[in-house]
Order: sequence, then structure tokens, then C-alpha cells
Amino acid sequence: MAHGLMPASSAEIAHVAQAARGFLIDWDGCCAIDNQPTVSAVAFLRAHQERAAIVSNNSSNTVDDFLEILTKAGVSMRREQIVLAGVEAIDRAAMAGPADVMILADPRMRAVARNLGVRLNRDEAEIVVLLRDTRFSYSRLERAANALRKGARLIVANPDLTHPGAEGRVKPETGALLAALGACVNLDTVEMEIIGKPKPGLYLKACRALGLGLEDVVMLGDNPATDLAGAEALGMRALLTRADEPGVFEALLQETGF
Ligand SMILES: [Mg+2]
Repeated sequence: MAHGLMPASSAEIAHVAQAARGFLIDWDGCCAIDNQPTVSAVAFLRAHQERAAIVSNNSSNTVDDFLEILTKAGVSMRREQIVLAGVEAIDRAAMAGPADVMILADPRMRAVARNLGVRLNRDEAEIVVLLRDTRFSYSRLERAANALRKGARLIVANPDLTHPGAEGRVKPETGALLAALGACVNLDTVEMEIIGKPKPGLYLKACRALGLGLEDVVMLGDNPATDLAGAEALGMRALLTRADEPGVFEALLQETGF
């Protein structure tokens, strides 16, 4: 099984492809850089659009954003085939029932929450939801830290510190903002739930969307510590697949007869 930073061998890819009835596929750094899907990822997604699901720790975009990017690339997927940590984190807050919720997130994601009936409160909250907030500020950090100190529970989209950006740059991720909160509040005293990979929730939801069991699918992702470790903890097969090294998508396409 491919793990660590070594790319999969062609024998491993052939073995995995033969057994696969479906694919769970990471987005950032695997299919796309800065939401620009690569040529080989698009070819793969087109060939397997009915039995692939995007499983992403993304917390900046909506399912509609993804459907738009995929449609433009000629890939046709159902909404259920796009499973995003940010959307799931907001859903979790919405399902908690009537509560004041502080959401640290981009405006479009706050709008998603509002549309789901989440009662947003920027000062006092029983629940704090942390997404990749590109307008994160001293004042937001202060308000969230104090809400947690007063007993609010914390829902975190993902623990990732960075994801790959264009030209070899890094994009700070939700986990980097969580580290700032952790510098102000002892997170061991906070009731905290992490939604994204490597936790099992997104993988399980994607398998249900495809109507497949964990043993039927292969996880493709660029991050050994989240994508692959989370999949393997569930007993799924996983292959390291990087957007800047198209070999795995191309080899899988060959093995699966496209
Ligand atoms: Mg990734």
C-alpha cells in the first residue's frame, strides 16, 4: 500500500485499480491547485464521474462553487458527490438546534450558514465554528477565544495547517487559525469536534453518496497524514496522488480501461 512520500509503483496502481468500484478524491493539491483542476485530474474525473466523489477539507467554497468548476471542465457530478469539510461543519452547527453561533469564515460561507437558519452572533456564542477565514483578525481571535473560555463548544472544519498554492507558495489553512486560538485558550478544556480528514465523517458520507462500501473504494490524495492515514484507519485503500505529478491519474486511467 502506498504510504509516506513515495509515489505508488505501477504494480500497486494496477492492483488497486483492479479492485476499485469507486474513488474518493481529494481536491487541493491532488486534483487542483488554487481551484484550477489539472488536465490529468479532469480526464480521470470525466472517465469516472459516476463513481467518484470529491472528499475535501476545503472550507472556503460551497458545493455550488465546486459544481460550477467541474461543469466548466466537462465533469458532471451530483451534489451528493461533493463532500466538503466547511459545508459539513456548518451543517453540524445547524443540526445543533437553536443556539447562538459565532462563525469564523469567509462571507460566502457565513451566507450558507444563514440560509440554513443558523443564528449568527458575533459577540456571544454557545458554538464557535472555525473555517478557513481569510479575513481572520485580532478582533475575531479575541471574540472567539473569549467565547471558548466561557464554555462555547468548538467545531473545526479541518486541522490542516496549510495547503499548496500556485508557484510553490503555501495557503494558510484552518489548522493555522486553530493554533492561534490554542495560543489563547487551553483547547484541552474545550469541547471540540474536528470534521475533516483524517476523521472518518467525510469518507463515510462520500461512500454513502456512491452507494459503495469502504472496501470498494480507493482514496486518492496528496497528504499522507490526512488523506491516506484517515482512509487506512477505516480499512480503505489509498494512493498518494499529487497534482504536480500526474502519473497516478494517468496510470489509473490506463488500468481502468480509458
Ligand atoms: Mg490535498
